[in-house]
Amino acid sequence: MSIAFPESRTVVLTGAASPRGIGRASAHYLAEQGWNIGIIDLDADAAAAVAAEIAEQHGVLAAGAGANVADEAQVRAAFDSLEAALPQLVALVNLAGVSSPVPYLEVTNEEWNRVMNINMNGVHYATRRAVESMVGNGVGRVVNLSSVSAQRGGGTFSKTVYSAAKAGVIGFTRSVARELGHQGVTVNAISPGPIDTDIMGGTLTEERKTAMAADGVLPRIGTPRDIAAAIAYLISEDSGFVTGQTLNVDGGLYMH
Ligand code: NAD
Repeated sequence: MSIAFPESRTVVLTGAASPRGIGRASAHYLAEQGWNIGIIDLDADAAAAVAAEIAEQHGVLAAGAGANVADEAQVRAAFDSLEAALPQLVALVNLAGVSSPVPYLEVTNEEWNRVMNINMNGVHYATRRAVESMVGNGVGRVVNLSSVSAQRGGGTFSKTVYSAAKAGVIGFTRSVARELGHQGVTVNAISPGPIDTDIMGGTLTEERKTAMAADGVLPRIGTPRDIAAAIAYLISEDSGFVTGQTLNVDGGLYMH
């Protein structure tokens, strides 16, 4: 038997403070559905500003905290403050991430470690802290952002180190899903194709968007809302029989 969601529930999103990013759009989308919102991002003021905007527009509780997801102590402190301010933590969405367009032959150890620390270790630190609470409550949802880059071997803006970290996220997702399924926690990944945000070296021109869309079977690239809707499903109470999966939201770029 799975434990029902509490009436008042919180989702924490990492990497949700950038103005045109997937995280902020998702936080708004989830607040519209009644989720209370916790935001973790590098800049505490920016996280608090997005939280304030969400609370005002949707009438839910929202709070922000500053943390570098690559720093475990900062991540744990951020969760402590958000949990003290908000209703029961039911869901975590790991969105914090960086791109890396460096060709493999030019990758330094510094670049390799920077990207792995944020895109892979950061997912682990936030997940580990969040699922400690979820397991205690007997119910939880975790969604991790991977990328079509992991499945197709790059081929987008970022190259090998990004691809390797995002592939690591898929293996991590499956294994944590297996270990925590009996404790009421589901863990899934979303693998977006190109989405119209600023992560690929700045705001995309129409020309770049058209070129990126040419590879898929749909005549456009994705929007943050396309990903927000997938996140909303995977953290919903009704998705409780789905775990260890990777949902490709990529316009048909990678069919599997
Ligand atoms: P974005 O740059 O708008 O958002 C990334 C967010 O992460 C920003 O708010 C940034 O401040 C935050 N962040 C970066 N480093 C951090 C750190 N060390 N600690 C805490 N926060 C940090 O980009 P986005 O497109 O919204 O990307 C969100 C996620 O989706 C990322 O994990 C990205 O890899 C993934 N993704 C994006 C695309 C795309 O085409 N946009 C495709 C596949 C996967």
